[in-house]
Amino acid sequence: MVLSRRSFLRLSAAGAACSPLGFDLGPARAAVRQLKIARTTETRSICPYCSVSCGVIVHSRGDGKNTQRTVVHVEGDPDHPINQGTLCPKGASLRHYILNDRRLTRVLHRRPGGTSWEPMSWDEAIRRIARRIKDTRDADFLARDPQGRTVNRLETVAAIGGCTDTGEFNWLFQKTARALGIVHLEQQSRI
Ligand code: SF4
Repeated sequence: MVLSRRSFLRLSAAGAACSPLGFDLGPARAAVRQLKIARTTETRSICPYCSVSCGVIVHSRGDGKNTQRTVVHVEGDPDHPINQGTLCPKGASLRHYILNDRRLTRVLHRRPGGTSWEPMSWDEAIRRIARRIKDTRDADFLARDPQGRTVNRLETVAAIGGCTDTGEFNWLFQKTARALGIVHLEQQSRI
């Protein structure tokens, strides 16, 4: 039997679990997959790309002490009620989103008049944001409109959520923004 590489691949695909040579490839494929995720730590998470919020399992290896912890595989979570193990192509490529040297992992701040981004600690960033919100609200909160109607709103602060936020986070986010009187509010879930 003359078998070109192309026909071998085509027959393999058509045969699903059976090779053209009569071998059952199913166990071999399962073993390769098992090898890939052997001894990994499983962490359940949510795909950050869109508001569908598919569940994922992130497989990582390494203890972070003697060996560097790294993500080796990301797959759909079969127990998640939204996607039941499936992922679209964006979600399926999540490992490359995590292991990306262009990924922002710390706060960067450009000072007024500055020309470059400088690192800032989370404590400092949160403290500054809280201070700015408080000062702006104290100065601009509007209890009544020019006609004397009660409005209790703050028009000089806008709140923007991200597509990576879960429904639960967005619920808290919009509650907090509304409590401050913020009316310019946008987020993916649009609660
Ligand atoms: S896997 Fe696709 S559909 Fe699911 S949350 Fe990610 S981007 Fe959205």
